[in-house]
Amino acid sequence: MAFTLPDLPYDYDALDRSIDARTMEIHHTKHHNTYVTKLNDAISGSDQEGADLESMFSQVSTLSVAVRNNGGGHYNHSLFWKMLSPNGGGQPSGDVAEAINAAFGSFDAFREAFTTEALGRFGSGWAWLISTPDGLQITSTPNQDNPLMDVAPTQGTPVLGLDVWEHAYYLRYQNRRPDYVEAFWDVVNWDEVNRLLSAAG
Ligand code: MN
Repeated sequence: MAFTLPDLPYDYDALDRSIDARTMEIHHTKHHNTYVTKLNDAISGSDQEGADLESMFSQVSTLSVAVRNNGGGHYNHSLFWKMLSPNGGGQPSGDVAEAINAAFGSFDAFREAFTTEALGRFGSGWAWLISTPDGLQITSTPNQDNPLMDVAPTQGTPVLGLDVWEHAYYLRYQNRRPDYVEAFWDVVNWDEVNRLLSAAG
């Protein structure tokens, strides 16, 4: 069963107050679609054909660079689309709010720390909020790596992720990653973050 490109749960222009429609369309139909195609090519006829992404990530250091890059690209973007919503923004409630306060002291302190991580990631990569046995932690990864991979220095289950590749923001924000990260907070789907945290156990 080959991997397929998921539909977005909203229209391309739905997040326009933060991310423009053209960026969303290219990001989904070109970038994400290419990761899916190349992932399927990479696993076709190999031991990984039919495996799920999580099991690939747990042993990704033993697999090809193509599986690592394109498997990560497919997983990360599938997660990212669901973490954005035209009805998003504001502050979290429920378990996420409690877990953030426990780990970082306050929502504002968390937001500042996550933003610092996203701006500090040199080049292309992702900033993450992850669930770990020790509670929530902030980390980042290069390229299309993620914290489920055995190569990640800080491992855990992603509950929030931010794509800081230039392809995610360049049309509107050019080199201004800080402006993109600021705009991201206005479309974060905290309901989805709560769902992921609950599923992470
Ligand atoms: Mn991307």
